[in-house]
Amino acid sequence: MAKVKFKLNGRELEAEAGRLVIEAAKDAGVEIPHYCYHPALGNPGNCRMCIVEVAGAPKPQVSCRLPVLEGLDVKSDSPAAKRAQASALELHLVNHPLDCPVCDQSGECGLQDYYMKIGQYQSQVREDKVHKGKRLEIGPHVMLDQERCILCTRCTRFVDDVTKTHELGVFKRGHVERIELTPGMTLDNGYTGNVVDVCPVGALTDRDFRYQVRVWYLDKTDSICPGCSRGCSISVHTNTKRNWHNEGRRVARIKPRYNPDVNGHWICDDGRYSYRPLDAGRLGKVLRLQPAREEISWAEAAVEIADRLREGDPKGLAVVASGLLSNEDWKALKELLPQSPLYFSPEPDQVGEADELLRRREKVPNLKGAEALGLKSGSFEALAKDLESGKVWGLYVIERDLEKVWGAKAKDLLAKAKWSLFQGPFKTPLSEAGSYRLPATAYVEETGHFTNFEGKVQAYHKALEPIGSAKPDHEIFGLIRAALAAEREGAAA
Ligand code: SF4
Ligand code: SF4
Repeated sequence: MAKVKFKLNGRELEAEAGRLVIEAAKDAGVEIPHYCYHPALGNPGNCRMCIVEVAGAPKPQVSCRLPVLEGLDVKSDSPAAKRAQASALELHLVNHPLDCPVCDQSGECGLQDYYMKIGQYQSQVREDKVHKGKRLEIGPHVMLDQERCILCTRCTRFVDDVTKTHELGVFKRGHVERIELTPGMTLDNGYTGNVVDVCPVGALTDRDFRYQVRVWYLDKTDSICPGCSRGCSISVHTNTKRNWHNEGRRVARIKPRYNPDVNGHWICDDGRYSYRPLDAGRLGKVLRLQPAREEISWAEAAVEIADRLREGDPKGLAVVASGLLSNEDWKALKELLPQSPLYFSPEPDQVGEADELLRRREKVPNLKGAEALGLKSGSFEALAKDLESGKVWGLYVIERDLEKVWGAKAKDLLAKAKWSLFQGPFKTPLSEAGSYRLPATAYVEETGHFTNFEGKVQAYHKALEPIGSAKPDHEIFGLIRAALAAEREGAAA
């Protein structure tokens, strides 16, 4: 596309011909206030906030409808532009309740932010504000406050253009115009949390997050959703400072992180709300379970497990792993047990619904990472037969619930193994049925890489400290490998 020269606030800039002024300004580091414009939802130009002064034009123009042209001279910070923006803001606030102290959007609200930047006037409105619906539960995840809505229509464009499910619309006219559910529908389309993200004010709030924690107490860490093989970019918002309202949960919410190559601006509700059980049913202690249940140190566990691995034929030790392992984990596992057969196929416990937007059938993030290392999974049916026949003497189970794999017969099959250990972040019905139980970190407590279904390698980062003595899986494999090597060196000496 040809480039053109234009001026913004007196600065000479260059942009692709036809790029919108609001976008070209953002590229140059200048944020022009806006509500209705969203890069993925279009530019209806109805909120009038992005108004700018254009040299030679008789009236101010909205910059989300104005393409960059050669020689265009635009001012977003002139007294005339600021006056126009402040007037637009004043109109948005005519009927908006001034309830920032009790509004859950406070601290990340477009109205509040722009009022502080460009508003700060005494209201001229003496009449009562128009009252509309409050605390409307419009779906399992979203609450609507019609009074706070500024009718930017981002939410309706999301359900019309992105999910194409049409649950929301603008109803009535004039000062009683409002966002409502389409008659007979509820907002439940698998992607509903995104309307909360796009709503620039406190009209749409997240039923799980609202009133749990003030946003200024949150820490944010870049991560990758482990909910399926898409590997959406996310930001994990943690609250370890004041978590008395959310029952001690350390992860307060998950938000999408813009990634044009993977998920754009969106994530699905499965991924968004996957943080709820992250602090429940966790394993934090290293346990020897047989002959008696006893807490031991990592060093003791590594030596004892290494002893047992040395005694048995490695080909008779089956490793049942999960697609939740990181690339670092797969590599360390391969180095620890290069000859042992691996079982990590997602069937039948780690698959689910897929759709055309983002969600993938494999509900684990990193089967590709194993594939990239040349690892192959055997079938669980064949493993069941090998356990029945005694061909397999040991089972190393990593982050997998065997009851979900084999159903009711899982306990009997596990009992066929002479020796087994469980390693993972969460309790499962059979996690104490073997010889050892090792606590591993959850993805929010470690740094690593997942390879998504398209082969994109993406980093996720540690947001929280591990629970108890838990360690990342690759560190556990490394400890056992070091113990094996030390025994060999000891025997050689
Ligand atoms: S509810 Fe929010 S996103 Fe929807 S129109 Fe109102 S302000 Fe815009
Ligand atoms: S599509 Fe998959 S990776 Fe993306 S948010 Fe949903 S579960 Fe997570």
